[in-house]
Amino acid sequence: ADRLKGKRAVITAAAAGIGRACAIAFAREGATVIATDINESGIAGLAKEGIAETAKLDVRNTADVNAFAKRVGKIDILLNAAGFVHHGTILECSEEDFDFSFDLNVKSMHRTIRAFLPDMLAGGGGSIVNISSCAALRPPANRYVYSASKAAVSLLTRAVALDFITKGIRCNSICPGTVETPSMLDRAAAQGPQGKEMFISRQKMGRLGTADEIASMAVYLGSDESAFTTGVDLVVDGGYML
Ligand code: NAD
Repeated sequence: ADRLKGKRAVITAAAAGIGRACAIAFAREGATVIATDINESGIAGLAKEGIAETAKLDVRNTADVNAFAKRVGKIDILLNAAGFVHHGTILECSEEDFDFSFDLNVKSMHRTIRAFLPDMLAGGGGSIVNISSCAALRPPANRYVYSASKAAVSLLTRAVALDFITKGIRCNSICPGTVETPSMLDRAAAQGPQGKEMFISRQKMGRLGTADEIASMAVYLGSDESAFTTGVDLVVDGGYML
């Protein structure tokens, strides 16, 4: 239960789904967790899960991210979980839709990493974990801009890993398959009564993943157990890629 003992971690989008599961798992493993989300009421309940601090943070707002990082100072783990799944092909994706997806899914990570990295470097290192998606590796149908944005996340991850590889910084991404989370269930419902079955059928294991199964990988990447691992996409997908 002490795999992250002595580490300070910041998590974005911690009110729901994968981010929330990561926050709880990190705290269970002994980390001092600062859980953030744009949804304040969603993170309020995390105090009773052993989370040290919760803070409202909109990862689309550069000034807020910078001020937050300045206040928090040196951390050991930064986990970027914020993301949005746009439904549709290129023809359903307006320029506004495109910009929104890239801003929330990609530029948010640019903001948080830029804000936290200097203190991580000064403190001797740290682990950055970005939630990408299997869609970055093989696009599912109707996930045009989502797939493109997550592919950018995976390469942003590798570029950061390479540039700071001798400075104690590791940067990896997790590529989940279809995971049962509030927004995933909403997307399934929007597809009609067969929506959930359709999502399950993408997983060759025949079931959806759980947010805890993604959090297990995040704990590994945040911890020193993964000290020799940087710049990779770790796939947790129930066979989606097979
Ligand atoms: P979710 O979509 O259910 O919840 C997303 C959270 O992000 C919410 O708590 C929301 O308030 C927060 N958020 C939205 N905009 C924000 C902003 N501007 N600033 C801060 N927080 C904001 O959660 P999920 O489905 O677990 O998705 C989390 C991540 O995992 C996303 O990056 C998603 O792309 C990725 N992912 C999810 C799945 C899946 O099947 N659920 C699969 C692969 C990858």
